Amino acid sequence: MFSAILREFLLPLLVFLLLRSLLRSLFAALRPASRPAAAHPLQQPAQSGGVLKKDPVCGTYVSTNTAVTRTVDGDLVYFCSPECAEKFSA
Ligand SMILES: [Zn+2]
Repeated sequence: MFSAILREFLLPLLVFLLLRSLLRSLFAALRPASRPAAAHPLQQPAQSGGVLKKDPVCGTYVSTNTAVTRTVDGDLVYFCSPECAEKFSA
């Protein structure tokens, strides 16, 4: 009698609980890996990379990655904004 209950209910229940905890740990292992990977490419380009160049119009230092550039007499000049670039060439 007891072994019949064990076979019919407890074993499937144990298998179910085991599978559920297995899936949970699997998701827990996947989530921390996927979240920072998705967040980093958005944060890094704005902060890192490039060389700082001085905007000759307003004196602000700008990254060569994000700066507005104009070629003046063969030299590449960096500006913080299109407005500064317009003022410089004017
Ligand atoms: Zn500027």
